[in-house]
Amino acid sequence: MRLRHFIAGEPREPASGRWGEVFDPANGKAYAEVALGDAADVDAAISAAEDAFPAWSALPHTERARWLEKLADALEARLDDFAHAESRDGGKPIKLAREAEIPRAISNLRFFAHAATQFASESHHGQAGLNYTLRQPLGVVGTISPWNLPLYLFTWKIAPALAAGNTVVAKPSEVTPVTATMLGELAAQICFPKGVLNIVHGLGPDVGEPLVTDARVKAISFTGSTAVGRRIAGIAGPLLKKMSLELGGKNPTLVFADSDWRDHLDTLVRSAFQNSGQICLCGSRVLVERGIYTEFRDALVERAQQLRVGDPIDEDNQLGPLVSRAHFDKVVNALQRARDEGGKVLCGGTVLDRPGWFVAPTVIENLGPDCASNREEIFGPVVTLQPFDTDTHALALANAGEYGLAASVWTRDLRRAHRLAAQLRAGMVWINTWLQRDLRTPFGGSGASGLGREGGFEAMRFFTDAKNVGLQLD
Ligand code: NAD
Repeated sequence: MRLRHFIAGEPREPASGRWGEVFDPANGKAYAEVALGDAADVDAAISAAEDAFPAWSALPHTERARWLEKLADALEARLDDFAHAESRDGGKPIKLAREAEIPRAISNLRFFAHAATQFASESHHGQAGLNYTLRQPLGVVGTISPWNLPLYLFTWKIAPALAAGNTVVAKPSEVTPVTATMLGELAAQICFPKGVLNIVHGLGPDVGEPLVTDARVKAISFTGSTAVGRRIAGIAGPLLKKMSLELGGKNPTLVFADSDWRDHLDTLVRSAFQNSGQICLCGSRVLVERGIYTEFRDALVERAQQLRVGDPIDEDNQLGPLVSRAHFDKVVNALQRARDEGGKVLCGGTVLDRPGWFVAPTVIENLGPDCASNREEIFGPVVTLQPFDTDTHALALANAGEYGLAASVWTRDLRRAHRLAAQLRAGMVWINTWLQRDLRTPFGGSGASGLGREGGFEAMRFFTDAKNVGLQLD
């Protein structure tokens, strides 16, 4: 299978003639080839997007909404194929792909189709004549997405960009390029207007950077690692390019003695290990009130050991492999580092004796807030446990480190929860739940977790320019 770019409504071979291997993480074998794009392909895609912009941006918003709905319908009709492809490409459990991620990609398209028809601008009058604000699309925009939620995050970006009237050059991760390619094929099948959505495959420096630096690209929406986010900010900053950066996390889970943690154990286990911990919102630092520490620890370890890890295409398995050899090596090194730092591995800590890139669900204790294991993102099925004594202590542990993406607080005392939610350094806080998402709400982090917010009208605002018009009426 050869995965080509999608430019001006058609599949396109890479100008370089180079192809990269795409691996099945469950057996470590290459099973497809992906176009290795370069600046020439990016240039062609941007030109196609520029050509398409006048007509697309001039469409009534109801028409743009109709196109997004059509794409959503076409995707829904192929849900099972996409779920299988996502499961194989990213090593994610088929159930997760079929029941959560591909449905969410469909919802992203539908949600922003509706947003296109609901997004409105303000007017202010009485103080200085009549002021009304135009919300104009930016032009050609670039989106760069990661491998951990491939189609889910790809659509989370292209949908608002298109809904707001922009044309898009999208760069999926080279590690998981399959479902984005399939979406391009669907767009061609439904005769989506040519050049409105373009997809260029390849490596970050070869494709992402030319996209970021091209003056015709008016904004970059990026989701990925903090290191690459910093690099993009470094090159896009001097160009004064509009940027949204959704980066890494090291999220705390605060479990208080008064919580109904036994009833919530399923969710707490999911929040630690879903998608083998390869979700930016997973809680990887579990902070537990000392009075219940031992009991909670033993219960969590028992449940982690019961998780069924194996071939992601098997319906019964709850966890699959890590996405790539490079990521597997990174997680294995992090396990060694945790041991070197004095961590006590309570379960897991090993790789599975089978082909593919599998790491057993791991719980580690005895590591303080200053060690690298509790400061650096591991992004695998690995959590640490730390006891705390008071709310203040819990907050200090939670806010240790550079990241500020998400947190969850488990307590029956809603006053405490509210107080902590206000004080936690995180863009998103869940109280007695995890990962429930209302697509209208702001999504994003602070500190090393990024800049800007996605979601709902935040995304529509990002993908438009506000222009105020002041009118003297008398
Ligand atoms: P990554 O930063 O390595 O890659 C992300 C994308 O950027 C890929 O498409 C990659 O090809 C591209 N890229 C790489 N170098 C580039 C460069 N120099 N210029 C432009 N583009 C470049 O991230 P990843 O390993 O694919 O994804 C995992 C990371 O993503 C984790 O750190 C995770 O926390 C983060 N993430 C964050 C969120 C969020 O919403 N905050 C969501 C999902 C994942």
